[in-house]
Amino acid sequence: PTTPPEGRRPRRLGVMGGTFDPIHHGHLVAASEVADRFQLDEVVFVPTGQPWQKQDRTVSPAEDRYLMTVVATASNPRFSVSRVDLDRAKPTYTVDTLRDLANQHPGDQLFFITGADALSSIIGWQNWQELFELARFVGVSRPGYELGADHLAEYLDRLPKDVLTLVKIPALAISSTECRRRAAENRPVWYLVPDGVVQYISKRDLYRPAGEERHDGI
Ligand code: ATP
Ligand code: MG
Repeated sequence: PTTPPEGRRPRRLGVMGGTFDPIHHGHLVAASEVADRFQLDEVVFVPTGQPWQKQDRTVSPAEDRYLMTVVATASNPRFSVSRVDLDRAKPTYTVDTLRDLANQHPGDQLFFITGADALSSIIGWQNWQELFELARFVGVSRPGYELGADHLAEYLDRLPKDVLTLVKIPALAISSTECRRRAAENRPVWYLVPDGVVQYISKRDLYRPAGEERHDGI
């Protein structure tokens, strides 16, 4: 409902969704690069609830993923973390997240940020019309995945201008899966995730096979 004052552009809000189990430097670089490229005023990180995409494995408790995301983003004045998806009872669709954030930030222009691997699963089958009314979408490059090479590519030319932009970012071959594997095998995750997240994983003993001895220094 709020119309920005004459001559002032609407506030630009980036939205970075993820399981963040754990959050790593690939996520942070993606958010930072898109913030710079699109002159975003803020990027809000949105940890998922128990995600339906990952029912094949046990996802760490929402509260741990939320706190790691807070720890990782705390030092950046333009980064924040939202609980909108955490407390939702039903599975979350991107459109739910965007609707809630739009209501919480009236007048803001939303930019949904996603990696090359997640792009088609997020906007490939949901109602495009509705998604594109709520936000612009930014797909970022990710090592091992070709940006725009999937079935979306054939539609790209036909999409209205500006609804989806593909952006090349510095390549960081980091995944949460690999971080979990490393932690489980007592190998280092230093420099793949922020220091505070290394310490949080250790403190809460995340990703260790049940019943295993706790080691100091991950
Ligand atoms: P997992 O291995 O558990 O799937 P992940 O590393 O893929 O974890 P997610 O929480 O699934 O992390 O990803 C959240 C978002 O961040 C997705 O849009 C994903 O494509 C993007 N992303 C994750 N890692 C990178 C990376 N290294 N470079 C660019 N984008 C990334
Ligand atoms: Mg993933």
